[in-house]
Amino acid sequence: MTGIEKVSSLDGFFRSAGRAAIVSHVRPDGDAAGSSVALASYLRELRGIEASIVFPTPPPDSLDFITAGSGFTAASLDREGAERIIAGAELLICLDFNTLSRAEELESALRAFKGPRLLIDHHVSPEEEDFDLVISCTEVSSTCELLFSCLMQMPDVGGDAGKLPARCAEALMTGMTTDTNNFANSVFPSTLEMASALLSAGVDRDAIIDALFCRERENRLRAEGEMLSSLMKLTPEGAAVTVLPNSFFLRHGLNDSETEGFVNLPLAIGSVKLSILAREDGPLFRVSLRSKKGTSARLLAVESFHGGGHEQAAGGRLFIPGDIASADGAGEYVMKAAARFLQQQASAQDEN
Ligand code: 5GP
Ligand code: MN
Repeated sequence: MTGIEKVSSLDGFFRSAGRAAIVSHVRPDGDAAGSSVALASYLRELRGIEASIVFPTPPPDSLDFITAGSGFTAASLDREGAERIIAGAELLICLDFNTLSRAEELESALRAFKGPRLLIDHHVSPEEEDFDLVISCTEVSSTCELLFSCLMQMPDVGGDAGKLPARCAEALMTGMTTDTNNFANSVFPSTLEMASALLSAGVDRDAIIDALFCRERENRLRAEGEMLSSLMKLTPEGAAVTVLPNSFFLRHGLNDSETEGFVNLPLAIGSVKLSILAREDGPLFRVSLRSKKGTSARLLAVESFHGGGHEQAAGGRLFIPGDIASADGAGEYVMKAAARFLQQQASAQDEN
């Protein structure tokens, strides 16, 4: 999965750095936050490296059980502090994104960084030219799994997950669990091997599942009910389209991270091949796309939503007024883009 040469090169970078900055993408999810906390914990506890975590925006409160005490800095709350950490580091490690633009307001600070820039990531087509070392693999569940594989090959771990700091092991299990949607997708033999090794090493998976999936607020579940009963629209081609305007968040008293996972729900319907959810966020809509095998969410994200991601889980944005004249036009834009995309796909399949 990870070439021995790349892993020894990674080890070499760790040996020569006293201060490292770990950076992940905007609106960090479980994999971004989990891999960042795991690497910071490993570098601090086993390598004696002063490792700092910097995110463009803070992770959601629901991930506090992983991020608490990790001392992260969010650029949206403290831009100067975030840029100072990056500029003062001897080594920069980017996790869970394939292009520096996914760090949004931190992009210029990352580009200005003079020392070695490393990337560990599981998205297709990383922008290799921006990095001194790229460890990239799409045949894994998550960045956490790829990082696990790298750390297991480090001389001080030597294939024994029991040697990983407890916080590191717990964070790795968390990111893998969220990126696989609790083992529902992107599960490889190596994913189960990782889970097995981490369980044997003492990770409390029950506590992780409880923290991730059993601590929601009542209004989140009721909002999910409204989404399914009245906001989700189905197209004859097999798309489910959901637009969540600001008023939805206000009505239910939700913050925007609380709709995480909503986009997966329509895929439970047999006839649905593709689910698209657009959330209003100031002057734009943030778009999440999920698809079943045989339909590329990534391609549609690239073609119609200025985005990208994985084949079955992708994202992008819809700009006002660039793409639509006003927020009211979001539903129609998304419906049309989805219908066109699925029609093209159907006619391409007919030709084959
Ligand atoms: P989500 O729907 O959970 O926000 O994002 C799903 C996946 O899509 C993420 O793991 C990420 O790979 C990708 N993604 C989300 N937003 C963007 C975007 O604006 N640009 C690109 N290139 N990828 C995105
Ligand atoms: Mn990921």
